[in-house]
Amino acid sequence: MTSMFTIRAERIFDGQELIPAQAVAIEDGRIAAILREAPENALDLGDVTLLPGLIDTHVHLAFDAGPDPIGSLDQDGLYDRMRDAALQHLAAGVTTVRDLGDRDYLAVKLSAELTDGPTILSAGPPITTPRGHCWFLGGEASGVEGVRQAVRERAARGATAIKMMITGGEMTAGSHSHLCQYSEAEVRAAADEAHAHGLPITGHAHAGAGIALAIAADFDSIEHCTFITETGIDPDLTLMTAMATRGIYASLTAGVLPGFTPPPAIAQRLAKLFEATRLMHATGVPIVAGSDAGIGPTKPHGILPWAGPNLVDWTGMTPVEALRSLTSLAARSCQIDDQKGKLAPTYDADLLAVPGNPLTDITTLTRPTAIFRKGRRIQPAA
Ligand SMILES: [Zn+2]
Repeated sequence: MTSMFTIRAERIFDGQELIPAQAVAIEDGRIAAILREAPENALDLGDVTLLPGLIDTHVHLAFDAGPDPIGSLDQDGLYDRMRDAALQHLAAGVTTVRDLGDRDYLAVKLSAELTDGPTILSAGPPITTPRGHCWFLGGEASGVEGVRQAVRERAARGATAIKMMITGGEMTAGSHSHLCQYSEAEVRAAADEAHAHGLPITGHAHAGAGIALAIAADFDSIEHCTFITETGIDPDLTLMTAMATRGIYASLTAGVLPGFTPPPAIAQRLAKLFEATRLMHATGVPIVAGSDAGIGPTKPHGILPWAGPNLVDWTGMTPVEALRSLTSLAARSCQIDDQKGKLAPTYDADLLAVPGNPLTDITTLTRPTAIFRKGRRIQPAA
């Protein structure tokens, strides 16, 4: 049995630009055609813009977005909470999430079992040094052979990305953002092994030295990419130019509510941090957004739409560039651009309708009026 229907919208953004079309025909969960004129029986969504479902390049379904996300890992019902978290993303119009740190490969399992949620890409437990950043997720590995083995295990378990903690992070006691955890040889071994398995690899890196290691090892993307030092931020134009030239994505930790107050360590560095993000964009670094949803109360699951206005404010992007970042560019960075991030025939019918025109008001992304995932209509969160 086939199911076919057509959606009409005032405007259509195809992942790249507004196109002269009025309707999208959907058949069996995929886009069958983009139509200049809507047929009479089309489902008319009115004065909205239809765009590809958003893609969050960095979430943690296992973290509960509460005051003690690490402690909550050990409480009963983790898998059920992860399912709820995934559904919250979908209800916000985020039709694909990439989980960059679960425990026991639960996000991989959820990806296979959840039929009514978003598409879930998963790295499994992030690869980290013994007692390194996020070691409690279970991904400790060291030495060139140990790191290679860790990548092979993830590939065998069905991970769709590899995540390596190149520098430390503030969430873990004894770990520091401005210091590298791994050697150049270990970082390179991880990248080579990931690529040998056809998997993209992304590096958690705050410090410039860690960003440099990721670039030298040919990582596909860099999470956070803050250029943090012990006392400040040191934007490095040479590294940014290398990222731009080699097409290495910066997955910026965007997605915060208006009026958000960052933690003190970030607050005192904020002006310089925005200088860095503006310079990255001006240098041509491909920028996508990963919300890091789950890591605390300011990071609820489904926060990504706020990355639209954040990218505009933080990097100097135009709204259309921000829309590309959250759709087609994000799909490319996750290597799913043959199915996602674009409204075109054969692509998955993952769609989002927002009121008015997001090219003139990017905040409309946060108020979706209709959501479809593989052609199935989803009720937006109130
Ligand atoms: Zn994270």
